[in-house]
Amino acid sequence: MTEIPIYSPIEEIIDPFFQTKEVQLFIKRDDMIHPFISGNKWRKLKYHLLEAEKLQKKHLVSFGGAYSNHLLATACAAAKFGFRSTGIVRGEEAENETLFLCKLFGMHLSFVDRVSYRNQSGLFNQYYHNDPDSFFIDEGGRGSLGAKGCSELINELEEVYDHLFCAAGTGTTALGILQGLQKKSVPTKIHVVPVLKGADFLQVEIENQCQDQDFEFHQDYHCGGYGKINDELLNFIKTFTGSTGILIEPIYTGKLLYGIYDLIAKDYFARGSRILAIHTGGLTGILGMTKQFNF
Ligand SMILES: *Cc1c(COP(=O)(O)O)cnc(C)c1O
Repeated sequence: MTEIPIYSPIEEIIDPFFQTKEVQLFIKRDDMIHPFISGNKWRKLKYHLLEAEKLQKKHLVSFGGAYSNHLLATACAAAKFGFRSTGIVRGEEAENETLFLCKLFGMHLSFVDRVSYRNQSGLFNQYYHNDPDSFFIDEGGRGSLGAKGCSELINELEEVYDHLFCAAGTGTTALGILQGLQKKSVPTKIHVVPVLKGADFLQVEIENQCQDQDFEFHQDYHCGGYGKINDELLNFIKTFTGSTGILIEPIYTGKLLYGIYDLIAKDYFARGSRILAIHTGGLTGILGMTKQFNF
């Protein structure tokens, strides 16, 4: 059966800083769902895989950059649930830890230039429309099937939090969480931290798809853009990981938590606030950045 049982406990992060500021920070460990089909990537794949299974498709075809957590999750999930998989990778042929793992999980990789890459459904139709076994999964598992899987996260919360934070790339996870919350009547404020620069379009996209659900969009924590880092971010990751035992990485979860700590420092939250951060996983991403840490 195409299912991974969700193990994603919520832990409180203990830090004297929070006592001074009179707030509590919790982290939902979606990174513990699976080492490679990790975090929001399982949530986003789930309904895609169920759909593929229903249509009796045997071959998953998806898209991503050379460090894509989504391609790795797709490769591993395909191997686990009996599909073949092809990853269409943006840019010229490359080798790195993520792509190595994709290949180890049996994924066939095909590199395409950045311009052609933009038209993903076009590429799929061009190469696979004659293959009745192939099933298209959009980059990052985005789209309504992806959001549906993410909306289920809300059902797992047994306590009430004043604030819930998640990082955003495509915004599918944020959208799903907002949609999940729409069905509940809890006073939780959703906060979205985009990891790319100039993310106004993303805010508009999310707003358009869930009109009456209010959320905050924090655009100050991208550190220069997608995949960009700076010393402050790296130092934050060192301190956080070294003092909590919880690994975070520089692309998504590092920026998310860096943002939350900054907002706490700036007294953004009312006293007594309970804040929940979603650890969306993707920890292999840090393996491509070991040199930048300068140890
Ligand atoms: C892919 C990814 C995200 C972004 O999720 P979206 O649904 O695309 O916004 C966030 N965190 C991690 C660790 C990821 O791998």
